[in-house]
Amino acid sequence: MTAVVRFEEVSKTYPGGVAAVRDVSLRIERGELVAVVGPSGSGKSSMLHLMGSLDRPSAGRVLVDGHDVAGLSDREVSALRATRIGFVFQQFHLAVGVPVLDSVADGLLYAGVPQRRRRAEAAAALDRVGLGHRVHHLPHQLSGGERQRVAVARAVIGGPSVLLADEPTGNLDTASGATVLALLRELNAAGTTVVVITHDRGIAGGLPRRIEMRDGRLVGDTALGTAIGVPR
Ligand code: ADP
Ligand code: MG
Repeated sequence: MTAVVRFEEVSKTYPGGVAAVRDVSLRIERGELVAVVGPSGSGKSSMLHLMGSLDRPSAGRVLVDGHDVAGLSDREVSALRATRIGFVFQQFHLAVGVPVLDSVADGLLYAGVPQRRRRAEAAAALDRVGLGHRVHHLPHQLSGGERQRVAVARAVIGGPSVLLADEPTGNLDTASGATVLALLRELNAAGTTVVVITHDRGIAGGLPRRIEMRDGRLVGDTALGTAIGVPR
């Protein structure tokens, strides 16, 4: 089986010399729900950027659905990202003043889906995240938890191979965070591969697989039996 995400001895050194990711190898298989956990500055977001082809490694190979990102043109990378990868960020990133139906429908823009169908699918996606009654709201008319659910709807509307979420509950109160996490679990149960980045060991401890990062290195992986462990 082709891994959804595969890292082969991947390193990322930023200009200025910060080695954010050091010699990391991993496989994430279709249907997994994985936490990447570690303290602030351990390289989690850098890993997500590499997994999502937002950035290219300084050394090693990154494969998404079997495609080596380094071997693709900028245009092919954009297409890969638009059709196979869904992103959710801590800050929601919803366009100010744009009704949520349109924000979610825009998730299908690059897939070449006609507008009518985009809007119909967006309505269905919002329904799925429990916001079918909020489709005409603007982002500022929604709570943080609702905004993040909109972001999740936008991320999964095209049926991506993998949903990458970077601290998706970082800006939310405990109850809203729990709702968003439950939603990610639900999507995973329905077949979406999900990677959740978090510094919160409580959140990570509740997920079936944990990859642990320290100073840019992968120091533990429950799938390999090497995780340092989180109290459950
Ligand atoms: P985390 O998400 O675990 O907090 P990051 O991947 O954001 O960690 O950062 C890892 C290290 O790389 C940190 O030391 C950070 O300061 C550095 N870093 C992150 N992004 C950049 C960048 N664009 N340029 C230079 N250094 C960066
Ligand atoms: Mg981060």
